[in-house]
Amino acid sequence: MRTKITTITDVAESQLCAGCGACGYLEPDGIEMVDDLYSGRRPVVSPGVDTAHLLESCPGVGLSRPDTGESGYIEELYHAWGPILTVYEGAASDEAVRFAGSSGGAATALGLHSFERDHAHGVLHIGARADVPWLNETVLSTRRDEMLERTGSRYAPASPCDRLDLIDEAPGPCVFIGKPCDVAALAKVRKRRPELDAKIAFTVAIFCAGTPNAAGTLALIEELGGDPAKPVGLRYRGNGWPGEATVTGSDGEIIGAMSYDESWGRVLQANRQWRCYVCMDHTGEYADISVGDPWYREIEEGDPGQSLVLARTPLGRKVIEQARRDGYLDIAETEAWKLPKSQPNLLADRGAVWGRMATTRLMGAATPRYENMPGFRYWIHELGFKAKAQAFYGTARRVFTKKLRKRHPVNPYRGGADPKA
Ligand SMILES: Cc1cc2nc3c(=O)[nH]c(=O)nc-3n(C[C@H](O)[C@H](O)[C@H](O)COP(=O)(O)OP(=O)(O)OC[C@H]3O[C@@H](n4cnc5c(N)ncnc54)[C@H](O)[C@@H]3O)c2cc1C
Ligand code: SF4
Ligand code: SF4
Repeated sequence: MRTKITTITDVAESQLCAGCGACGYLEPDGIEMVDDLYSGRRPVVSPGVDTAHLLESCPGVGLSRPDTGESGYIEELYHAWGPILTVYEGAASDEAVRFAGSSGGAATALGLHSFERDHAHGVLHIGARADVPWLNETVLSTRRDEMLERTGSRYAPASPCDRLDLIDEAPGPCVFIGKPCDVAALAKVRKRRPELDAKIAFTVAIFCAGTPNAAGTLALIEELGGDPAKPVGLRYRGNGWPGEATVTGSDGEIIGAMSYDESWGRVLQANRQWRCYVCMDHTGEYADISVGDPWYREIEEGDPGQSLVLARTPLGRKVIEQARRDGYLDIAETEAWKLPKSQPNLLADRGAVWGRMATTRLMGAATPRYENMPGFRYWIHELGFKAKAQAFYGTARRVFTKKLRKRHPVNPYRGGADPKA
């Protein structure tokens, strides 16, 4: 019999939680967001707290493609990638931001522009946790140095919606940067919190193939010769494109480095949380602006970085154009084909998700629900026989190895920088 999802604890224990933190924001006295080293950022619900009403704001249980009422979307992209008005390619004009950024620093440049030249107060996003740098925390950045310090993708659990209260309390509107599931959660929360809605300047989603758990990060630090117990500076990429995973010591010296391909491909991605294997939105369909890597071409040695930037709403396009006019983005409109060519894995994954969900459903494990987010077409056209078989057999195997039919109580990590203490 399939697991019935009626509470937030059901979502977390059935491995459907994406770790966005929205439930923690909506029920701060009854839900604590914690780090579970082997799954991700997870909600722990106090006894007796009714959470059924929070499911409507939870992206873990499912998503339906946003109906913005707009027209003019790029038709050839709409079916697979959701609403997109314009595709751009470019980078932060500021060389320091471009170099530090994950791809071309576009997300950071948009955030900087919002409070340096526009009317925003700051940017709610993610940074390394001050006391345990191999974990993440949600922060409100209002200065350039803070934005620069928090550049770069962090391939580890992060729940930016858990501190939406910082936007509630801010003296002006704020920008929100997060993964697609974080932005989808915010879109749901805004519907029930009009005061919060009025204070969101705009949203930026970074493309996301999946979040590895903290155990993946600890394995990476170990391979790089670092000691997580001592203050460890950790970057997963950036400082060049795509940049390297680096561990630095307390005085900034580099202890170890590994290429992006190896750190993501060999160490981190095997530790992705289960929810990411059945994710239908890897590019931020709910955002005003989405940013990813333009992998459609070979990266030349020394390339400081470029971003593929999607304007998904008229507001997003206005923000990008204004940032370009004000000299924050060096960016130009580009052809639509560059998106699928840049992210062929994400397109194929849409088809694989259809197969994985069919398998988990058949085997009685919990699955998310999607509306107007098609997968079957990509299952037919993007996957060969081997990939289709892999989606079925790989998932059937994971139902057992990841124990998807069983409940997994959240195991909070309450320690400090030394995970062995
Ligand atoms: C888990 C994960 C998976 C990814 N998968 C893909 C992919 O499949 N394809 C692809 O093209 N790119 C992927 N990326 C990289 C990212 O989408 C691109 O590099 C994007 O172009 C952003 O680059 P930027 O230079 O504009 O960002 P920057 O200017 O460097 O800014 C990055 C912003 O992202 C925020 N951030 C960092 N880590 C997280 C996190 N874990 N959760 C929420 N917010 C975070 C930071 O706070 C910062 O504001 C992934 C990133 C992550 C964290
Ligand atoms: S996906 Fe977000 S809202 Fe849903 S249970 Fe997880 S943290 Fe809470
Ligand atoms: S793959 Fe999807 S569910 Fe997983 S972290 Fe990324 S956006 Fe969220």
